Amino acid sequence: METLLDRFCRYVKVETTAVEQTDKYPSSPGQLELGRMLTAELRELGLADAAQDENGIVMTTIPATVPKAPTIAWFAHMDTSPEFTAKGVKPVIHRNWDGKDITLPGDPSRIIRVADVKGMADLTGKTLITTDGTTLLGADDKAGVAVIMTAVAALMGGQASPAGQQASPLTKGGQRGVAALPHGPIRIVFTCDEEVGRGVDKVDLKKVNAVCGYTLDGENIGELDNETFSADLAVVTITGKNIHPGLATGKMINAIRLAGQFISRLPWRTRAPETTSEREGFLHPYVLEGGVHECKLRIILRSFITAELADHAKVLRTIADSVLVEHPGAKIDVEIKKQYRNMKEALDKEPRAVEYAAEAIRRVGLTPKFQSIRGGTDGSRLSEMGLPTPNLAVGMHNFHSPLEFACLEEMETSVRILLELAQLWAQP
Ligand SMILES: [Zn+2]
Repeated sequence: METLLDRFCRYVKVETTAVEQTDKYPSSPGQLELGRMLTAELRELGLADAAQDENGIVMTTIPATVPKAPTIAWFAHMDTSPEFTAKGVKPVIHRNWDGKDITLPGDPSRIIRVADVKGMADLTGKTLITTDGTTLLGADDKAGVAVIMTAVAALMGGQASPAGQQASPLTKGGQRGVAALPHGPIRIVFTCDEEVGRGVDKVDLKKVNAVCGYTLDGENIGELDNETFSADLAVVTITGKNIHPGLATGKMINAIRLAGQFISRLPWRTRAPETTSEREGFLHPYVLEGGVHECKLRIILRSFITAELADHAKVLRTIADSVLVEHPGAKIDVEIKKQYRNMKEALDKEPRAVEYAAEAIRRVGLTPKFQSIRGGTDGSRLSEMGLPTPNLAVGMHNFHSPLEFACLEEMETSVRILLELAQLWAQP
């Protein structure tokens, strides 16, 4: 039976970098290739209904061993970040890591420094997987994919579970024996294009039809992300009046100048990402484009309290009014677009989602660490769409970078957490 490490190394070698500037879904052909591989492997594990749909999303269901237990879903994304190349990933395995900085062999200028990575020193003696320094690793989220595939193999009775429990072999009729771990139906979903914000656009929740979901897409093992920002996007369009500068007296309205005034009036000392932390929200201008006639500003609004997004929007409208007082001939349009909502709002409606995850973490001997993410996850969108979905850690570190690495023992623990979770949901 293939090990978790072999699986992981095989998956990271498929180039699945997501592409931002395209309307195609999925945004890159490698995601379809990995999806085809996973579908074939799920079928080999005995899941005849495993299929890749027209959008490249892979889905299957592990049949229940306990009748009437609720259905849960496990999610991981197949794409990797566009921030660094993933062409020709060469995983380097560091067994019994000595706790020292790691110089990457393909580019010795790239060094993973223990002091720079929170919690890295605690991984001394464990098996770390890095790249050679010329690509990212793609543990985000191939670690999640490999963890789920290994849990599927264990539940399908193909191998001893990592906890050492021997699951029952297949019976003659191809059905699993009753001695298999007790669990309800488990939906497996491998998604595309999470890294470019389209991770759940094509997920059919009617087909998933579960009481709750879990994304396997987090960092240090034991962490449980149960809260995210609520998020809106503001598009500020400033329209001025262009005319030859030689004839401009009393006539020109320069949209660039107005944009400058607008930005300078943003409350950056109290509401910017670079001046806030913990549970404080912010307004963050991240795109400015245009010319004398028209400028467009894109500003993200973030807060853990959804109602505060309206305050942020009000700040923008007040600034717009104040700029217009000095330039009455201009036009400033502030358009607010909804992005995602704090997953906690949905998780509170299905408390078992987090309770059972925390209990599963305790059962493998760890203390659950609840985390509020200053960002969003696929789970924020899924939760809002009606499927409460917290995020579980899989042992990925330094992601979106050539200094990315994964820890094998953390991934193994993550598999054990999934097996515990499956059983908790099947309890009477
Ligand atoms: Zn991810």
